[in-house]
Amino acid sequence: MPERTIIEPFRIKSVEPIRRTTRAERERLLEAAGHNLFLLESDHILIDLLTDSGTSAMSTEQWAAMMRGDESYAGSPSFTRFRDAVRGIFGFEHVIPTHQGRAAERILFSVMCKKGDFVPNNAHFDTTRANCEYTGAQAIDLPIPEARNPAQIHPFKGNMDVAALEELVTRVGAVHVPLVMLTVTNNSGGGQPVSMANVRAVKAVCSRHQIPLYIDACRFAENAYFIKMREPGYQHRTPKEIAQEMFALADGCTMSAKKDGLANIGGFLCTNDAQLAGQEKDLLILTEGFPTYGGLAGRDLEAIAVGLDEALEEDYLQYRIASVGYLGDHLIKAGVPILQPPGGHAIYLDARAFLPHIPVEQFPGVALANELYLEGGIRSVEIGTLMFGVHAKNELVRLAIPRRVYTQSHIDYVIEILLDVFARRADIRGLSIVSQAPFLRHFSARLKPV
Ligand SMILES: *Cc1c(COP(=O)(O)O)cnc(C)c1O
Repeated sequence: MPERTIIEPFRIKSVEPIRRTTRAERERLLEAAGHNLFLLESDHILIDLLTDSGTSAMSTEQWAAMMRGDESYAGSPSFTRFRDAVRGIFGFEHVIPTHQGRAAERILFSVMCKKGDFVPNNAHFDTTRANCEYTGAQAIDLPIPEARNPAQIHPFKGNMDVAALEELVTRVGAVHVPLVMLTVTNNSGGGQPVSMANVRAVKAVCSRHQIPLYIDACRFAENAYFIKMREPGYQHRTPKEIAQEMFALADGCTMSAKKDGLANIGGFLCTNDAQLAGQEKDLLILTEGFPTYGGLAGRDLEAIAVGLDEALEEDYLQYRIASVGYLGDHLIKAGVPILQPPGGHAIYLDARAFLPHIPVEQFPGVALANELYLEGGIRSVEIGTLMFGVHAKNELVRLAIPRRVYTQSHIDYVIEILLDVFARRADIRGLSIVSQAPFLRHFSARLKPV
């Protein structure tokens, strides 16, 4: 059997025009935005790969479910359907809706952490780190050593370094580690999956020290598919069964439904601890809303309930992982340095290797992202020194692929632009900061070319 093209497993029912701009317009727009792609208007972008968060195309079933949304303040049946959908996959007793993932993080860390604590993770996402450190606790990244080398291939490069976890807990004392987190897939580490064996090993350390394990579940379905493809013993299990097995090992989770919830907004926080859930709901009422809506409309809860199950469909996951891999494989073939192997939701360009003449203090990732916009109207995002400051381990530019949004011809165009920029990379210059905020500076910093 010849290998056939893996097609988009959907047809298009509603279209949204995207607009071209000229290079001269883009130069002017970029300067007005302080050379920060977050400050551009999306009307001025042709292909938006800034994020896969909240940018999914919803299905006919999701839109239909939204009409069923019940907007009652308390006790909405939309909440019941949402809670049951979450329990059906994640299995946790207490399901607390939030307006997005970071609200779940803020509530979790506010209740569990204090100054002097340490929170290990395979790699903290930017909002996770910021919310954790806002409580005075220290966010510690413990990726496996292989993760530090962008060119190294490893089937589960998102894994946590279990020996380093054991060492940390022993050194600081279990009483100062209120929880351990695992991010699946590892977003900051390149969208790389975590194996079931690693979750089990981390859980064993947690159990020995009586520390709860929480999963940052944003891309749980993509992670489950990688386990099915790559981990011995899982080939014949469904992604849903794999997800259920993974969450059965955890004590709770935080989730952004804007990723593998296939929704445009929403999130949740889960736990099996009734006392914690009580404290979390008290905080929820203060800033998010009553526990049966948590800052979301009833129709959002409905869209998430349907989206969580759609994200676990095998046809969808096969297409999803194959289409991200398609972009990655074309770039690898042309010699463009990317984080290997291709991740689940994004391709990460290795800006340090792409632009070796630009020092880290001049933000090679930002320089590359700016160039992709100038050349082809493509928006990407730096994940490096501008985002993480001194914590940055690599200088990456993420090309995040929104779910069910772009077709193969859009991706072919992205490849063409990237190869053009790669061919004249020696001419690209670095940047310096003009102004910045004390937290999460990458969202609002203004820069200028050096
Ligand atoms: C997006 C994301 C979050 C935060 O979720 P929001 O919905 O954007 O607030 C947390 N962790 C990871 C790994 C993420 O990718």
